[in-house]
Amino acid sequence: MKVSEILASSTKAYPSLEIVPPLRGMTKTELLESIAPFMEFSPKYINVTSHRDEYEYREEADGSFSRHLVRNRISETTVCAAIMERFDIETIPHIICAGTTKEEIESKLDNLAFLGINNIVALRGDSMSSEKRFTPTPGGYSYASELVQGIRSYQGSNTYRRERGLETDDRFFCIGVGAYPEKHFEAPNLETDIANLKRKVDAGADYIITQMFFDNKVYYDFVEKCRAAGITVPIIPGLKPLSTARQVSVLPESFSLDIPLELTSEIEKAAGDKAKVYEIGTQWCINQCRDLIAHGAPAVHFYTMGKSDNIVRILKECF
Ligand code: FAD
Repeated sequence: MKVSEILASSTKAYPSLEIVPPLRGMTKTELLESIAPFMEFSPKYINVTSHRDEYEYREEADGSFSRHLVRNRISETTVCAAIMERFDIETIPHIICAGTTKEEIESKLDNLAFLGINNIVALRGDSMSSEKRFTPTPGGYSYASELVQGIRSYQGSNTYRRERGLETDDRFFCIGVGAYPEKHFEAPNLETDIANLKRKVDAGADYIITQMFFDNKVYYDFVEKCRAAGITVPIIPGLKPLSTARQVSVLPESFSLDIPLELTSEIEKAAGDKAKVYEIGTQWCINQCRDLIAHGAPAVHFYTMGKSDNIVRILKECF
């Protein structure tokens, strides 16, 4: 079922779960065991993130340099197929522009259509670790809005279906996109970022998932500004429970967000006591989640980042 249909037919908020594909070397069984605890909550779907291939240059004996592909994670499509086979639930692969040509993306879409996957989250992706700023791949998309447009005009499965006299579907894929209540780090201001978000919706995105935030007011204000800018699609809030004291500095740096003073002071007071920090982070997320549901959020998206204990507890308490 498409997320747009799930959102349209849901009468109450549901949990949406995002996982990161395993590193090379992890087995399928280990991956499936790591997400099995979520199945108790009958999730409507599981999102699987996508990670760009990185390259490294190695010096050869003759002094020349050769380029080598460094692929650290199993692909999102493979992970989606494994989850669907084992748990018989919908999966949503993330598709990124970064490091990919338009043709390669079309080939990914062929593979997804083949598997019967008709939900996608379309993103630009980030720069390579060796780059300061995002550089589009030659022959690739520069912005997520272009990718959304590309997915909407995807003709692969339709060409096949037309040739066989079968019914075609120009909106085969339901498309989600990302948004940043505290502004994307490259945008000059929130208003411009929201105008760029609208480009993604105008290009055909069906719904939005936000970056994580730790103060719900930030989300409520953002939704209000999006509505004022003419964005009418559902905006799903994204949450991540803090689980270590180190994340207080890592998350703002990695995701360009603020952590409220009340939360940082509580964590500071508990520093050294790992279990207490974990409990504070989990409880904060429970409170955020309850408040979002009470305010009519359509769903709550959780960045699980390979952890299940805290997420399971939050799901138990909130849904
Ligand atoms: P865009 O919407 O293209 O925006 C990028 C920047 O360009 C913004 O500053 C925007 O304001 C600006 N911009 C957009 N259009 C224009 C235009 N036409 N002209 C000028 N400026 C413009 N990353 C991964 O690598 N893999 C994942 O699986 C992944 N999943 C994510 C899931 C969610 C829900 C979110 C919120 C983020 C995710 N990310 C993921 C991170 C994302 O790829 C990065 O944040 C990236 O830097 C921006 O992606 P975007 O799709 O929002 O980009």
